[in-house]
Amino acid sequence: MFSSELEKYSWEDITACIASKRSRDVEIALGKEHLQLDDFMALVSPAAAPYIEHMAALSRLYTQERFGKTIQMYVPLYITNSCTNHCVYCGFNHNNPIARIILTEKEIENECRAIRQMGPFENLLIVTGENPRDAGVDYLERALQIARPYFSNLSIEVMPLKSEDYYRLTQSGLNGVVCFQETYHKDRYKVYHPKGMKSIFEWRINGFDRMGQAGVHKIGMGVLIGLEDWRTDVTMMAIHLQYLRKHYW
Ligand code: SF4
Repeated sequence: MFSSELEKYSWEDITACIASKRSRDVEIALGKEHLQLDDFMALVSPAAAPYIEHMAALSRLYTQERFGKTIQMYVPLYITNSCTNHCVYCGFNHNNPIARIILTEKEIENECRAIRQMGPFENLLIVTGENPRDAGVDYLERALQIARPYFSNLSIEVMPLKSEDYYRLTQSGLNGVVCFQETYHKDRYKVYHPKGMKSIFEWRINGFDRMGQAGVHKIGMGVLIGLEDWRTDVTMMAIHLQYLRKHYW
């Protein structure tokens, strides 16, 4: 599991390593076809700031080489804003006295139909807060089954699930899972996520392993820029990505 792998890395050492990069390191990284973690750190370091246009041009080139001139768009559909977590930065925080809604099956279908009537959207991202009791795996499965006839690609951004539940959802049309680790700073993670299932750092971070074990076709990951040092967080995420590619290609 990645939580064990993460023990090998020190947040402070990675932060210091990124800060130590110089122009020469950035230029070496820009000259390589296959980059290592050290090169990645050079490219997100303060020393890389003057090279941003160069990086943008390279990024454009690689993107067009691999995907052509295409832009993929998706439509997020929130099917519930109910949530048992207490993330301090979120308006859906359990303590926030707002109206909570869990869409019925009929309402989900109406939303899917309305989205299709608005344009040729094929990628739907079903989003929920974290409410395993009232909007758990059974509910997600039904939502996927309802949306399936309307869209060719279905993803979810929901609470981390067990491996067997991810697998079950793939059998109901799930193509991809998006999950934000928010931050890889384990101690500070507790400050932002004080209560609820999400407060358990290992449960969230190992969710990506469980997606891989379940054979989820596409895994999307992210950090919440602005919580901690973004340079260190995206480097940690790059380490995580390398790990996932190795274990669940
Ligand atoms: S789990 Fe998601 S919806 Fe719930 S409070 Fe946290 S960020 Fe908001």
